[in-house]
Amino acid sequence: MRCWYFNKPPKKDIEADTLVLREEPVPEIADGQFLLRSMYLSMDATNRLWLNDTDTDLYMEPVRPGQPMVGFMLGEVVKSKNAAFPVGALAAGLAPWAEYSVSDGAGFSVMPKIPGLKLDMAFGVLAIAGPTALVGLMEVGRPKKGATVVVTAASGAVGMLVGQIAKINGCKTIGIAGGAEKCGWLTSEFGYDHAIDYKKENVLERLKALAPEGVDVHFENVGGEMLDAGMAVMKNFGSVVICGLISTYNAQPGERVPGPYNFRNLIMKRLRVEGFVILDYLQHYAKYQQQLAGWMLEGKLNARLHVVPGIENSVDALKMLYSGANTGKVMVQIGKE
Ligand code: NDP
Repeated sequence: MRCWYFNKPPKKDIEADTLVLREEPVPEIADGQFLLRSMYLSMDATNRLWLNDTDTDLYMEPVRPGQPMVGFMLGEVVKSKNAAFPVGALAAGLAPWAEYSVSDGAGFSVMPKIPGLKLDMAFGVLAIAGPTALVGLMEVGRPKKGATVVVTAASGAVGMLVGQIAKINGCKTIGIAGGAEKCGWLTSEFGYDHAIDYKKENVLERLKALAPEGVDVHFENVGGEMLDAGMAVMKNFGSVVICGLISTYNAQPGERVPGPYNFRNLIMKRLRVEGFVILDYLQHYAKYQQQLAGWMLEGKLNARLHVVPGIENSVDALKMLYSGANTGKVMVQIGKE
């Protein structure tokens, strides 16, 4: 079987020798363990942060050079000495980027088959992006009905869901994305009221025009100048949700990264700025997943997947998140469903 290993920390963007694909035997299981046959690997922007040569200010243990690269995986249990994960069960959790892996079940959960929901869609939305969008918007941002919500990286895995959840909750939505095609999806597929193309338009001027009374909740996925523009148009006592800062993830630890320069608006506009990590909410996952699956089955929540076939293409798939080449939630299909 094949497995990706962390080889060498990159200077900036992931490089050709950052990760290496090796051939090795399928691992054996011991008592209490199960063997997982990998199906879908979720590609998450944060994976890049686990590859730095320092773990300063990281929310979890990084991957060390020489160790298998890890990510959020959905697979099928094919051998088991663990009653909670019987053969045939679908299990999801943090696992090596490999065709097979062994686990004792820590951090894994059995994924129920949801009638009416395709497996790739269920994993793509319910595993990470959906709970992140739901928690970030409703529990951290807490918009009231009628609120104006701005979302950056709005056509991406998290952003496309934030906009739709905001609409379900009666908000006015403005999405920011790169390029005419992605901006088109925002209004035609993801229910955004307005789209701003940050590659062509002046984001600050467009925000001022689209939200003349100001913005109640700003949901940040990118950071830098977009966050800066967002903080300039907040209403007094508005909320800024820091979900992600992808524009900064390729920087070296300690390197100075752009913005926000409008920091003084925290005082002038009495803003609440709050970051969150979805891993802190795992104990409530069943509730979030039930809510999200319900909306999907009712046709209220729609998602685009970008499935890349083949474990050998995992690094290229991850890099798409940084170039913007992805056209939806990026997952690598490692093995058949
Ligand atoms: P996406 O599917 O949104 O892909 C990333 C997108 O970010 C790209 O398609 C690109 O969109 C945009 N982007 C990348 N680099 C830049 C840049 N320099 N400037 C502007 N836009 C850029 O990924 P996810 O939905 O998986 O992740 C979105 C964010 O959510 C990330 O910051 C991630 O870390 C965060 N996140 C946070 C979690 C948490 O627990 N707090 C959990 C999961 C995700 P475009 O083409 O529009 O430029």
